[in-house]
Amino acid sequence: MNDEKRVYRFGGDEQGRDVTEGSASMNYVLGGKGANLAEMCRLGLPVPGGFTITCQTCVAYSGAGDVWPLGALDEIDEATRDLERRMGRKLGDPDDPLLVSVRSGAPFSMPGMMDTVLNLGLNDEAARGLIKQTQDEHFVWDSYRRFIQMFSDVVMGVDAELFENALTEKRLVAGVKSDAELSSGDLFELVEEFKGIFQEHVSASDHPELVVDGKVMFPQDPAVQLRLAIEAVFGSWMNERACLYRKRNGIPDDLGTAVNVQAMAYGNKGDSSATGVAFTRDPASGENVRYGDFLINAQGEDVVAGIRNTQPIQEMGSYPALADAARDLERIFQILEAHYRDMMDIEFTIEQGKLWMLQTRVGKRTATAALRIAIDMVEEGLIDRETAVRRIDPAQLDQLLHPQFNTHTAPDVLARGLNASPGAAVGEIVFSSDDAVRRAGEGVPVVLVRWETNPDDLKGMVAAEGILTSHGGKTSHAAVIARGMGAPCVCGVEAFRIDAAAKEVHVEGTDVVLREGDIISIDGTTGIVVAGAVPLKRAELTGDLETILSWADEIRLQPGSTHPYHVRVNADNPEDAELALGFGAEAIGLCRTEHMFLGDRKEIIQSFILSDDEQERQAALDSLLTVQRRDFLKMFKTMDDRDVVVRLIDPPLHEFLDDPRSLEVRIARLEAAGAPAEELEALKARLRRIDGMAEMNPMLGLRGVRLSFVFPELPLMQVRAIASAAALLIRDEGLAPKPEVMVPLVSLESEQVQMRSICEQVIDEVAAEYGVALDIPVGTMLELPRACLMADAIAQHADFLCFGTNDLTQTTFGFSRDDAESKFIPIYLHNKLLERNPFETIDEGVLELVRMAVEKGRSVKPELTCGVCGEHGGDPESIKGLFNVAGVDYVSCSPYRVPVARLAAAQAKLAEMA
Ligand code: PEP
Ligand code: MG
Repeated sequence: MNDEKRVYRFGGDEQGRDVTEGSASMNYVLGGKGANLAEMCRLGLPVPGGFTITCQTCVAYSGAGDVWPLGALDEIDEATRDLERRMGRKLGDPDDPLLVSVRSGAPFSMPGMMDTVLNLGLNDEAARGLIKQTQDEHFVWDSYRRFIQMFSDVVMGVDAELFENALTEKRLVAGVKSDAELSSGDLFELVEEFKGIFQEHVSASDHPELVVDGKVMFPQDPAVQLRLAIEAVFGSWMNERACLYRKRNGIPDDLGTAVNVQAMAYGNKGDSSATGVAFTRDPASGENVRYGDFLINAQGEDVVAGIRNTQPIQEMGSYPALADAARDLERIFQILEAHYRDMMDIEFTIEQGKLWMLQTRVGKRTATAALRIAIDMVEEGLIDRETAVRRIDPAQLDQLLHPQFNTHTAPDVLARGLNASPGAAVGEIVFSSDDAVRRAGEGVPVVLVRWETNPDDLKGMVAAEGILTSHGGKTSHAAVIARGMGAPCVCGVEAFRIDAAAKEVHVEGTDVVLREGDIISIDGTTGIVVAGAVPLKRAELTGDLETILSWADEIRLQPGSTHPYHVRVNADNPEDAELALGFGAEAIGLCRTEHMFLGDRKEIIQSFILSDDEQERQAALDSLLTVQRRDFLKMFKTMDDRDVVVRLIDPPLHEFLDDPRSLEVRIARLEAAGAPAEELEALKARLRRIDGMAEMNPMLGLRGVRLSFVFPELPLMQVRAIASAAALLIRDEGLAPKPEVMVPLVSLESEQVQMRSICEQVIDEVAAEYGVALDIPVGTMLELPRACLMADAIAQHADFLCFGTNDLTQTTFGFSRDDAESKFIPIYLHNKLLERNPFETIDEGVLELVRMAVEKGRSVKPELTCGVCGEHGGDPESIKGLFNVAGVDYVSCSPYRVPVARLAAAQAKLAEMA
């Protein structure tokens, strides 16, 4: 028999003594929910008793093809008996039955993704027993019909709509608006009707254990109910939406979910009962105010499902029957924050005036709230600055740079809802997730408009620019998920009367009717909805973000046990440079000069490459020198005395040439139109030259430093432009520009030796010409495995090394950076051949090459500066690995990634100091 402990108890025993076996640190065993239920018990908070079945049991069960590990069912059985003893009630007891909830709870929060069953243990006898105990038929039949409904849907997969339809019909017949208004007689009838639906839609061959007298029956044995419910929760770990959620959030698939079996507390026992969800602070703004919703006389699922409109938590104290519970809740908010030192998210139920805690976890929050809460908590003395910096998810900062409405005048508001997730979005209205996916796949931005979303809408929410719901509060499914994704969301737009079948919305109080395909704009920061397209702009970096980033800078720039970690920007025009300075870039780590040859300059470079006429080629070079010098003057001036690393021309030259196929078509058309022979001949000669330059593998061809040996005029011109721009600023404006030259795609030491000598010669000539001293370092870009292997030899001739990890990834794997991501990387990810896209997050093999090259480089030059300027320089996880594993001095990334990189760099430094 396996002696692994599979079940952990929480809560009190018969004498009220705490018998909790777990704690908050056990979330990989008990899941987040189980671990925190245990922790709340340890804090002495009111938690209904229960037990948690471990995540490892789920993994073992699923891994064995849905077969229970040996002894696990016995352990659950024993825990159930123990819970019955502790609660003084038995499951299915005809006099005083115990009812339980069965809830999932994975190590990482996956809100709404997996299954829950409430009121388990009810059967025909127990229902009568409960009536005896409570004298409340309404409550009992309501609970029983909920249980059959939930069990059928969640555990047996019966279509939930069948039950909803029966409920709706019952309300219509009874002439009432809400379920709570149905009479106990109505509810009793519903129980019988629901059992009928169950009988009709559950197949006897799939569930022979439920067949009685030849017919499938709703299971009356609580032990059978419990086992089936636990198996369903295990199974929900692998349901489609849970898998998708994990993929989006980088949660490993092999963790499994725990299952929490807990005595029920009833929020549906009349007007002194309620249920709610709340946050200790506002998760949207971060303001230090309690935040949440509650519903009187309801069960937990009703709040998130958005079936009834909820009330703000602040109003709870104004109901005399709930006032004590509201006071207790406030006290618990304080205990939880002081204990966890973080903003907490809770679920609670009030049963006839008595408060019960059903869940707590560190609350999800918007980026704005994350910053505000971290700063406030430092000021309140709850955490220190380092913890504050550690707590902000760098990837979440993107949210702050999300678009906003860009209008001088207030937009014409069509309707208002709740500002559930910040950022603005504009798109065509779609009414279903499938339509959202389809239209977005066609490249059309869409806004998903729904009455309320449910977990199956995840794919539509991912595809949409923004989400609007007409129902539900700020803790509804749409709000929670959108905030987690960083997608703009406005929910509870009550004026929207949505007819999803007809694909139209009537806007109450107006004669506006919006139809599928109409454009709509939403602002999740303010909750405003506008018909038509509102122009968007990006946010500025101010306030709280600046504070956190300044703390991050203090951390990453302090010497520590190794060196500081710098953040530079990849920019090739003054506007981007300016923007990046505003975002806190310290220097330009990569100026791709070929970007300066686009637009109207393309023709000039074309005539240099294609012309046979020496004079024409020289004239082209002279023009290029003039325009490049002008560009560098502006760039150096913008960057003032900060480093500007200028990379010599890199891509295959044909990228600057006409596409031969379009040129062929043009020639054919001109021929057909009878164009003059000389004109045709000139174009044909051009086509021959372009064809002559074609390569089978351009990415492995004539590019990078190789160009400088085939067209030696190009580096001479470029270095002259760089050096003379610097010389002019020094001589005429008294500035101190700091350009550096970087040689791309080097593989041989000899390439670097020759390039360095060419560069130094030009720099010396220019210095003499302008009568100034020029100190322009010449470095190497390492983007080929050979260069990394020979980094010690190359470093002897390089003033710095900078890793082009885009090409290094391409050449280490032999994956084409232009094609792999659309052709096979998705399949590799899906089949788990790869865990991450290596073009996004640095691969460990590539990282090892970088680490080795840095080490080799510094073995010949201990103070050698080493940086990274591939896309990985803006990816938080890569930023950490590049510092902690490879020991680079800086990363360089695109302007909008700079704030993200500053924060991730500080976190890397903190990990190093830990
Ligand atoms: C690289 O290869 O990582 C790099 C920065 O250069 P580019 O992307 O321009 O090839
Ligand atoms: Mg490159």
